[in-house]
Amino acid sequence: MNYLVLAYYLFKDIKNPLEAVSQHKAFLKGRDVSSRIYISEQGINGQMSASRLDAIAYMEWLVNQEGFEEVTFKVHSSCENVFPHLTVKYRKQLVAIDREVDLSKRGEYLTPSEWRKALESNEKLLLIDVRNDYETAVGHFKGALLPPCKTFREFNGYADVLSENFAPDTRILMCCTGGIRCEVYSAVLKEKGFEDVSQLKGGIIQYGLDEGIAHWEGKLFVFDERLTIALDEQEESVTVGSCKHCSTLADIYYNCANMDCNDLFLCCKGCAKEHQGCCSDACKSASRLRLFNEESGPKPFRRKGQLLAK
Ligand SMILES: [Zn+2]
Ligand SMILES: [Zn+2]
Repeated sequence: MNYLVLAYYLFKDIKNPLEAVSQHKAFLKGRDVSSRIYISEQGINGQMSASRLDAIAYMEWLVNQEGFEEVTFKVHSSCENVFPHLTVKYRKQLVAIDREVDLSKRGEYLTPSEWRKALESNEKLLLIDVRNDYETAVGHFKGALLPPCKTFREFNGYADVLSENFAPDTRILMCCTGGIRCEVYSAVLKEKGFEDVSQLKGGIIQYGLDEGIAHWEGKLFVFDERLTIALDEQEESVTVGSCKHCSTLADIYYNCANMDCNDLFLCCKGCAKEHQGCCSDACKSASRLRLFNEESGPKPFRRKGQLLAK
């Protein structure tokens, strides 16, 4: 495992994000790196894989750049780069939710061990997973509320559903992959009138690094070529998720082989072969099909450097 996969973000005013983008590009040029890094006036949201040496060099470099001193990294190892390109871009919104959010109102942080303690207490609480439905379909905390949202934008409307169904003093615990969506969504729920909102610091990734799979079941969906990873490499978890065709337990994602569909769906190996990587019979008889290759497995299909799942 000679590569490291980094996940990190920081909300902090960046005076000149375009300059920060070019500094990143200059530093990363020629290195063994792949990434999806977004920088805005609000801060940075980064995911990266790199050879061990280049990853360490980058982490040291970034925290010495003005404005980025407080970035903390979540680190996994990998045997190769996991992003299709080296992407560093300016983006107006770090988290796409299409509304103004006052981040000073965000929820209290719970460290992974505090989170675990809260789950093990007898306290009455509402555990909300604020990831998209295809992410929670392969893994989540036991007993968590899994909203039927396909994109983070849909969580906007879901906040109304929550406030119609739960009292303002409900103790809410929320989690997402790396923590950045909770920063935003905890503030949204507080604006909606919820008084007791906490967020998992460092997200599910950090929880897995610190606490393993306690109270968790399944895999963790990630927005890179791995698609799903074990929350803790040392511990096997049960399979969560079911094959779209035959409903048996399945936790492998495929992009439908019909190029005009490309839908991301869970599928067992048998059905993937039988349906030639397609999500439905209609897709199987479509005119523009990618050749299904059983050997190479379900590498995600990409367009313009983005996983379609994004
Ligand atoms: Zn199946
Ligand atoms: Zn399809």
